[in-house]
Amino acid sequence: MHRIVFLGPPGAGKGTQAAILASALGIPHLSTGDLLRAAVAGRTPLGLAAEEHMRAGRLVPDSIVLEILGQRLGRADAAAGFLLDGFPRNLAQAEALDRRTPLDVVVSFEIPTVLLLTRLTQRRTCPKCHTAYNLTTRPPKVPNRCDLDGTELMHRPDDRAEAVRTRLEVYRVETEPLLRFYRGRGLVRSVDATGSPEAVEARVRSAVG
Ligand SMILES: [Zn+2]
Repeated sequence: MHRIVFLGPPGAGKGTQAAILASALGIPHLSTGDLLRAAVAGRTPLGLAAEEHMRAGRLVPDSIVLEILGQRLGRADAAAGFLLDGFPRNLAQAEALDRRTPLDVVVSFEIPTVLLLTRLTQRRTCPKCHTAYNLTTRPPKVPNRCDLDGTELMHRPDDRAEAVRTRLEVYRVETEPLLRFYRGRGLVRSVDATGSPEAVEARVRSAVG
């Protein structure tokens, strides 16, 4: 079984690695953001309940998120495992997830804060098609224009230095107890998330085994 959780700060490259690994292992790559959006779009009872909270600008309660996730984990394509990306985010969610399913491995992406700051503050996004660029590692062909549609790229407010520092701090405070919880169960494999995506991919594969 490959029941995998990816933990790592924003900018660590988790999403990219999750897509690669899930496809290599033939398991679904599950992000709660995508699951919520699908439930809302599908007008399911849980989706409608989630939408009410989103409309009011509130976080969707863990109970609803877990119910949607639980239904997804029950589908046939998740029988051999799954890769959770971006969930759980805190200890309460980890404990609730634990009551639903055992895990086989928790991959922790380790990367120095200074590198994350560079990566995130260099990020630019196309407001039209949402393609992400990076001024250093993936610059657009024409400066500050989207390769696909020529739209002027945007420096999102949450990618500016102060906001990034806050996001990283929130992540650290919420995730430390989570790591302790999973370490206590012997599930955590730390992966050095610096270097090229290919180098990180090889480390992730050997961590997952
Ligand atoms: Zn675009």
